[in-house]
Amino acid sequence: MGTCRSQWKMFLPMLLILFSTVGSSTRHHHSSSSATRCRLAEEAVSRREIQMREGAPFKVVMFADLHFGENAWTDWGPLQDVNSIKVMNTVIYHETPDFVVYLGDVITGNNIMVGNASLYWDQATSAARERGIPWASVFGNHDDAQFEWPLEWFSLPGIPQIQCPPTTTSYSGEECNFKGIGRLELMKNEMEKNASFSSHGPRNLWPSVSNYVLQVSSPGDLHSPVAFLYFLDSGGGSYPEVVSSQQAEWFLQKAEEINSDSRVPEIIFWHIPSTAYKVVAPKSSIQKPCVGSINKESVASQEAEMGIMDLLANRTSVKAVFVGHNHGLDWCCPYKKLWLCYARHTGYGGYGDWPRGSRVLEINQKPFSLRSWIRMEDGIVHSEIVFS
Ligand SMILES: [Zn+2]
Repeated sequence: MGTCRSQWKMFLPMLLILFSTVGSSTRHHHSSSSATRCRLAEEAVSRREIQMREGAPFKVVMFADLHFGENAWTDWGPLQDVNSIKVMNTVIYHETPDFVVYLGDVITGNNIMVGNASLYWDQATSAARERGIPWASVFGNHDDAQFEWPLEWFSLPGIPQIQCPPTTTSYSGEECNFKGIGRLELMKNEMEKNASFSSHGPRNLWPSVSNYVLQVSSPGDLHSPVAFLYFLDSGGGSYPEVVSSQQAEWFLQKAEEINSDSRVPEIIFWHIPSTAYKVVAPKSSIQKPCVGSINKESVASQEAEMGIMDLLANRTSVKAVFVGHNHGLDWCCPYKKLWLCYARHTGYGGYGDWPRGSRVLEINQKPFSLRSWIRMEDGIVHSEIVFS
């Protein structure tokens, strides 16, 4: 196995079983010439820390709802993906980000006929990967699709124990684990790409997979956090559109473990807006204190609220939540002490013809501040906001 893949080692035995069908396609592509860079990237990824550059703010761009792989059997399908790559290239050219977040619906899995949907995932994430820009992703409702999960399994007490059928052959126990195989395959493939900071999250949260936290560190001291970036899987596709009670519990435990005094600001990313977005949504035109440029549809929220929003709203360190999913919305509105923001539809895939763009988030260390704006595919910037 390549040196850039050690962060994956502890899960390897399990994955060899789960993913024996996809492993062979990704095994031979590492170049030894980039060994040092590879090792540094690997160390950063395994520490789950990204260091700010000296004297510069930390800039994140969000690519939301790319929907790669739509209608591959037509001319316009693949052309959409080419156009989406152009949008991403333009945004990266103008913004030179330190980090890229792929905010879900990276691909339209339910539209992909080839066996390995990661082929499209890799295309969609190439803009960051090929430039060596660190990046991470969360899943949206279109990235996988399979088993129909009952919604009530996502509230307490959670998913019942899996019962394997009785058998005389010996099993490792993984063969009858149905917890989100599609998402895991996509995530496994992504984690092998050495600039990706994504993780499959704790196993007890599956089938919700993209649950992890990253630390943005001070330029002077890698162990001094400036902000924590939380990524949560908001479901959809193969299971209900929801952030479960268990995920909320995981967030709280993690936050209390690494930021017990709430001194370090926390920023949240997931794909599908929570029901709280409906509460703050502008009625018609976008007016202060909301900031944004399009309000063309109603909020398509998660199916249920299982407790995450109460936790976030009651933690003074949580500053903002960023979501995609609604292609015709790009506003930010205050909700209690935090901000609820949409990204901006980046992809030519997916419904809607509103001009494409990307939400940018800028983190300044001293004094701490958060700024955001939207960069459009024609280079124009609008909807600038300072989160107070
Ligand atoms: Zn979506």
